[in-house]
Amino acid sequence: MKTVVLKFGGTSVGSIDRIKKVCKIIAFYKKNKNKVVVVSSAMSGVTNELVNKSKMISNNFDRAEYDALVSTGEQVSCALIAGRLKHNGFKSRSWTSWQLPILTEGPHSSARISSVGIKELNKYVKSGGIPIITGFQGIGNDFRITTIGRSGSDATAIMLAKFIKADECIIYTDVDGVYTTDPRQYKKAKKIKKIFYDEMLEMASLGSKVMQPTSVQDAKLNKIDIKVKSSFVSKSGTLIADSKKTFSNQIITGISSTKNDAKITIVGVKDRPGVAASIFRPLSNNLINVDMVVQNISQNGKETDLTFTIKSEDLKKTERLIKRNKSISYKKLSFDKDLSKVSIIGVGMITTPGITYRMFQALASKKINILVISTSEIKISVLISSKSVKKAVAALHKEFKLN
Ligand code: ADP
Ligand code: ASP
Ligand code: MG
Repeated sequence: MKTVVLKFGGTSVGSIDRIKKVCKIIAFYKKNKNKVVVVSSAMSGVTNELVNKSKMISNNFDRAEYDALVSTGEQVSCALIAGRLKHNGFKSRSWTSWQLPILTEGPHSSARISSVGIKELNKYVKSGGIPIITGFQGIGNDFRITTIGRSGSDATAIMLAKFIKADECIIYTDVDGVYTTDPRQYKKAKKIKKIFYDEMLEMASLGSKVMQPTSVQDAKLNKIDIKVKSSFVSKSGTLIADSKKTFSNQIITGISSTKNDAKITIVGVKDRPGVAASIFRPLSNNLINVDMVVQNISQNGKETDLTFTIKSEDLKKTERLIKRNKSISYKKLSFDKDLSKVSIIGVGMITTPGITYRMFQALASKKINILVISTSEIKISVLISSKSVKKAVAALHKEFKLN
């Protein structure tokens, strides 16, 4: 008998009809003699609404209360799923994370799951029950509710699969797999049958929201294969797995893009040891995530220009922190908004020369200006104007024969 973890995302449980449909999928696995454990997200839109409410109460809403608040959406969807399964004659119950418990470490709103209490869960599953577990949350050392970052139900499913030693973890969502690029943005995107963890991790981190990055990292660390499937249509999905189990001759596997990036350039900063640290320390202390960083050596060797990117929503705060920072001196500050990072990803890049040139040439032929470049072994990212993203994705999709 196989044990399967099934995770349903927000749109999959977005209405009463959708929940009834999801219960049919769960019933299918149960009838096929599987032990079934379910993880659910909140109904679509619910978490956003709760986040907005917290902002309306305070622009500095307490982080612990934020977690207590935004974790409630999952309790609703899980109870509705369990209720429907019971209605259909199955043994089922909902389980909030603290009841298991799902223990977490780290700060509120971005905690990580460290362990899952499985004793009661296993007993229940063995007795034929279908547990429906709230994704996205756990409890910290102080027994207060924590959440594990937006879209965190993916990670809950992976960690449950790890602790209960599941044979399969299936992420049910509103697309029928991982595509070469977001199929809602680019119609010619193609479904990928198998993708390596490392590629999926890069795609997810670089803006492909179909999987949450932490969950892919957890799956890779624990060697848990993930299947991504649609809860709307019955079609084969995508397998995310270790490179040993899969084979690909594709150089570039996928293209990701981000929205709402901003660029800051500090011109004429004194070039001495520790200057970059002095600039970034206050940003880090204020939880501002710095992404791409480029430092240019100045002509006189005494000064340098430093360019970096952040999310647009952090722009005002970053500007304030830099202007207030007495430990640095510079000649000029400049800011740009409405930028996006477009990335090509693929393990085939390691062994194939000329990829960078082909990427730049494809963008140049569409007259797309590149503002910042960053690379790793398996990805190349460029920062461009958000206006050009669609054009860039199409050009790159064609250049690397993903169509
Ligand atoms: P869920 O609520 O099920 O967790 P998400 O909205 O988090 O679903 O993720 C699914 C969405 O991810 C899709 O609707 C799609 O628009 C988007 N997406 C972005 N990049 C990709 C990609 N490369 N392949 C598939 N979907 C993608
Ligand atoms: N409901 C949470 C969110 O919207 C978690 C999830 O969907 O995975 O971020
Ligand atoms: Mg998601």
